[in-house]
Amino acid sequence: TRPLRSLMKFASNDKISAVEELAKINDQSLVRSKAYVDGKWTDAASGLTFDVTDPGTLEKVGSVADMDATEVRKAINVATEAFVTWKKTTAKERSVLLRKWHDLIISNKDDLARLMTLESGKPVAEATGEIFYGASFVEWFSEEAKRAYGDLVPSPVSNSRIVVMKQPVGVVGIITPYNFPNAMITRKVSAALAAGCTVVVRPASETPFSALALCELAERAGIPPGVLNVVPCSSENTPAVGNELTTNPLVRKISFTGSTAVGKQLMGQASTTMKKVSLELGGNAPFIVFEDADLTIAAKQLIMCKFRNSGQTCVSANRVYVHESVYDDFVDKFVNLVKEELHVGHGLSEGTTFGPMMTERGMLKVEDQLQRAIDAGARVVIGGGRPEGLNVGGYYLEPTVLVDVSDNVPMSCEETFGPLCPLYKFSSDEEVLRRANNVPVGLAGYFFSRDIGRIFRVAEGIEVGMVGVNTGIVSTEVAPFGGVKESGAGREGSRYGIDEYLNIKYMNVAF
Ligand code: NAD
Repeated sequence: TRPLRSLMKFASNDKISAVEELAKINDQSLVRSKAYVDGKWTDAASGLTFDVTDPGTLEKVGSVADMDATEVRKAINVATEAFVTWKKTTAKERSVLLRKWHDLIISNKDDLARLMTLESGKPVAEATGEIFYGASFVEWFSEEAKRAYGDLVPSPVSNSRIVVMKQPVGVVGIITPYNFPNAMITRKVSAALAAGCTVVVRPASETPFSALALCELAERAGIPPGVLNVVPCSSENTPAVGNELTTNPLVRKISFTGSTAVGKQLMGQASTTMKKVSLELGGNAPFIVFEDADLTIAAKQLIMCKFRNSGQTCVSANRVYVHESVYDDFVDKFVNLVKEELHVGHGLSEGTTFGPMMTERGMLKVEDQLQRAIDAGARVVIGGGRPEGLNVGGYYLEPTVLVDVSDNVPMSCEETFGPLCPLYKFSSDEEVLRRANNVPVGLAGYFFSRDIGRIFRVAEGIEVGMVGVNTGIVSTEVAPFGGVKESGAGREGSRYGIDEYLNIKYMNVAF
């Protein structure tokens, strides 16, 4: 049942040592293992630490201070004090600091990428791409800081003026996932700092090193103590830390990226003090190939859209619908590309284009979805499980393409967040749009067509926040990133992104 399995390519079977790779980081002061609060590197009061593991070898990369809810409360107090002066800085001053931070991120990109690969598993070329992507938000918001314009509104009465101004909301609590350890932080923090807010960040327990390296560079850039605070914690301490961030009345805004289930819980907690919330949650992106599509372009874009980060992206294609008249051609083209381009291996091995899953939990979920689809009659065309013969340790799964997948199995209804690619047949535009929209979430969606009428009809009909037309890419700092339905609330990046961190106040002035 797995005819092409033996044709999967491995990048390299050479043993990688996480400890040796860590030692190759040129600037070792980027490898920080303490929390960063009030401009100081701080151990947990308990003295406890938690381990960070390389998902590509299962070796320990290092251990990091395990902060608890009491220490997070202190960080919130620090950020509250720092807000008093930070909010009074000029937009130009904040802009200059953010620009310096951006430049330092870029000039340290190789070290940051290596560190990220070690804690997340992603191929180092993808990690480098993420450093540029993450830095692009810092650059963008260094510019937007100066453009948080208000309005002068014509008044309905004489001798009066109405002035609308924007002011920073205050202290922001930020909680981020493991799949983009740099960019999910910069996308939030740079917008908040540009607006004049101060922040307390709880990075994912799997990937705290990337967050702490960003603090080191922020300090070098001159961002004042207390403005950016990072409090790592273990998964055991996470619920209490999350509770403190979402219920402490001094925190005025929560920005979270992660699963829909956790997002709902945090939104509930934040409602007790009526905080502003931005929630970037799970997706389940449809990827539609119409009969008039350029199949070569669609297949290439699907490789990247589906298998980047080993499928662990919120905007990853999750369900691929191909018109029945081009289905067989498309499957052939796509499977050949999978065979040619995806080389499974450790993220730091030469030639790796496809790394491990980042967590064991994620791997087991994908394996369960795969088995349930096979039990219901799906056929694996390529891939199909853990690679045989790859002996480097780690949470490796093959990129897997399936056909004859039922619409009712978990793979077809839920976010996979892994390297499974089910290909479904459809016969009409109405049918495919109905199936595409038949999920509770709506983050990204993609389709391929050259018919201008169809392009507008489908783009307007698809229930998502971001649509890729003839492309598998929707993420850029200049466009509003975010979803509809249970994919969350709020937008990040773009000129809309800074508004999430600003309150509107207006003055009615009579004279
Ligand atoms: P997750 O929701 O399990 O965890 C996200 C973060 O929240 C982690 O750091 C986790 O430790 C933390 N967390 C969990 N419970 C918490 C609690 N009670 N209080 C405070 N923090 C808590 O998600 P994950 O598996 O780490 O990440 C994958 C999910 O994130 C996927 O659903 C993916 O689609 C989504 N995601 C969305 C976007 C987006 O921009 N929309 C981007 C990346 C990932």
